Amino acid sequence: MNKNEKFHVAVLSGDGIGPEVMVEARRVMEAISAKFSITFELQEELVGGAAIDATGTALPERTLEACREADAILFGSVGGTKWESLPPAEQPERAALLPLRKAFSLFANLRPALCLPELTHASPVRETIVAGGFDVLCVRELTGGLYFGEPKFLKQEGGEQMAVDTMIYKASEIERITHVAFQAALQRRKQVTSIDKANVLQNGILWRQVVERVAKGYPEVTLNHLYVDNAAMQLIRNPKGFDVVLAENLFGDILSDELAMISGSLGMLPSASLGAPRGDGLYFGLYEPSGGSAPDIAGMGIANPIAQILSVAMMLRYSAGREDAAAAIEAAVQRVIRSGMRTRDIHTGTTRLVSTEEMGNAIVASL
Ligand code: NAD
Repeated sequence: MNKNEKFHVAVLSGDGIGPEVMVEARRVMEAISAKFSITFELQEELVGGAAIDATGTALPERTLEACREADAILFGSVGGTKWESLPPAEQPERAALLPLRKAFSLFANLRPALCLPELTHASPVRETIVAGGFDVLCVRELTGGLYFGEPKFLKQEGGEQMAVDTMIYKASEIERITHVAFQAALQRRKQVTSIDKANVLQNGILWRQVVERVAKGYPEVTLNHLYVDNAAMQLIRNPKGFDVVLAENLFGDILSDELAMISGSLGMLPSASLGAPRGDGLYFGLYEPSGGSAPDIAGMGIANPIAQILSVAMMLRYSAGREDAAAAIEAAVQRVIRSGMRTRDIHTGTTRLVSTEEMGNAIVASL
């Protein structure tokens, strides 16, 4: 991104804790803007339950239009008990997030699972395993595989019900997600673990072949393969042994949640969903916390804003090409954690319990 250009962001705060944590993310953007001479142009629009209440639909045309005009979407979270009785297709998550993924062909889901050394107590995994923390990036294919393959139906046959889902991958779909994983590995510890089930699935055989072919273009990155069942065990046994984990849609869905769980609080974890790279190597993307709208703590001022703030860092890295600003946010978050400040989700007896706003203040001050 050129220094004189404006960076346009569609800001969709959504429901529950979404608007509360977005306030802090916006304050961090203000601080970044001043420090790194980045001009943000923010367009705030309704999404999810808030949009249903105001307009009758979870993704109004006006919101979609703002996203089309933006360089990136900064998303909060959607959903809550109020809208749970709606038909499934009209529920906030399904009616807002899935159409956004589809409209912008967001095929690459990046979910970092970062457990800071100071927060290993929040991990349910034994302290000896996570001592010193860990940092794994899960790269999940988001638009193919079993979730979207046709035919897909339920039917009655021979007097009983049967269900069919179809797993389909084209080599080109595997290729593009593999490039995302290897590009990310180049910026990290240069190690990719590709997940498949090549001992049982034809999809797994093709997946492995294509990944190996793409890997030849990245000689500085080490590649190894794991069957998904083994990966599920190894991630718990030794998360520190992983750098980038590359997986198709279903396997990535499950393993990224497993990684989120072993890293501790959902309130710490951002995510990015990226479309095809543009000519300049940057991506259009949707950036959001890994967690949901947390209705159990909404409105109490105690939610952890860090996942939303780190989503801003990912946005700056992948959609604005501003590694300097992204790294500054991540370093500020780490300094604040090191100083002992904690929101309730990561608090222990000896640390200082702070509110959403106080955590935001501290990160802005640290920047
Ligand atoms: P959730 O992630 O909202 O909450 C799970 C637990 O994690 C809760 O105890 C919550 O308090 C805690 N938590 C989550 N984020 C936190 C934060 N920033 N700070 C502190 N604690 C945090 O998952 P859920 O309870 O299964 O879902 C609640 C609603 O969110 C549902 O309506 C669901 O459909 C929706 N949801 C939305 C998204 C999305 O918008 N992308 C993702 C998942 C769930």
